[in-house]
Amino acid sequence: MRTPNDLELAKLTKRYGDTVAVNGISHLFAPASYVCLLGPSGCGKSTTLRMIAGHESVSDGNIVLEGKEIAHLPPAQRGTAMMFQSYALFPHLSVRDNVAFSLKMKGVDKATRYAKANTLLELVAMTHLADRMPAQLSGGQQQRVALARALITEPRVLLLDEPLSALDPFLRIRMRAELKRLQRELEITFIHVTHGQDEALALADEVVVMNNAVIEQAGPPREVWGKPRTEFVARFMGGHNVVTVDGGRYAIRSDVIRIGAEGLPATTTGVEYQGDRVAVTTRTAADEEIVALMPEDAFFTQPINPGDAVQLGWDARWQHLLEA
Ligand code: ADP
Ligand code: MG
Repeated sequence: MRTPNDLELAKLTKRYGDTVAVNGISHLFAPASYVCLLGPSGCGKSTTLRMIAGHESVSDGNIVLEGKEIAHLPPAQRGTAMMFQSYALFPHLSVRDNVAFSLKMKGVDKATRYAKANTLLELVAMTHLADRMPAQLSGGQQQRVALARALITEPRVLLLDEPLSALDPFLRIRMRAELKRLQRELEITFIHVTHGQDEALALADEVVVMNNAVIEQAGPPREVWGKPRTEFVARFMGGHNVVTVDGGRYAIRSDVIRIGAEGLPATTTGVEYQGDRVAVTTRTAADEEIVALMPEDAFFTQPINPGDAVQLGWDARWQHLLEA
């Protein structure tokens, strides 16, 4: 059953001359879901988002929203809205006028557009700063204004291109919780582009991993992290070792590797303290790197140093076969 605000990409392609930025991707987004589009720089994330928003033309394929083909429509008529990485607020307009801007363009009268802008400023907790100019705001406050400005058009789908990358780590974690809360309250789909796997795992109902202009894997965060389909996904999502066992390539979680009295011999090449745990990097005789994440108390009971010989063990049930 198709619900009203399903977004569907069908064999969506973008070419720039000889470069294929997005190569025939197809995906059906669940209604009112928080989706994180994740992948390394240059894999086609922003291009995908811009095609959905209408800021970039489509070379091939379709975009369907609420059962309607939208790829030929101008941005304002699609039912989508985009929040840019730089926020792109108008420096000469107050916070309230920034938020009300698109309604002004539509010819909505001042009283109506200010009333609507005030509602949205309340939603992002910026009512008290409505008369300020953008230059008088912190990064986090500017971002809230940019959010309110995108949401005033009542989009079915909000597109966010690396919305947290300009913020310091502390604020980034606070703002991501706010984004999640907003998405739940509004019950619309958020498609949030990031190259941070932590951010994707923390936020997403669905993680879509892109690589080389295609979707490599999509699914709930626990599935994508815990059951990576390919070596690329295992390495990109992190927290896994990729090792050869009986000729097959396997992913094994770093947190299930035990350093003990018996097992696969390896040499310690690095030790990294991470607070609640310690990452011990080793190299095997087959020249494969294996990282063991040890609880910090276990590590410091019997510390290991670079150069130490160790034996690595793990329960075979944690071995997860990767596609070739
Ligand atoms: P991402 O957002 O994942 O980092 P992009 O979607 O920005 O990646 O870019 C995907 C590919 O398309 C890259 O190879 C990039 O160089 C290329 N590309 C993006 N925009 C343009 C453009 N306007 N003209 C030519 N090539 C572009
Ligand atoms: Mg990008």
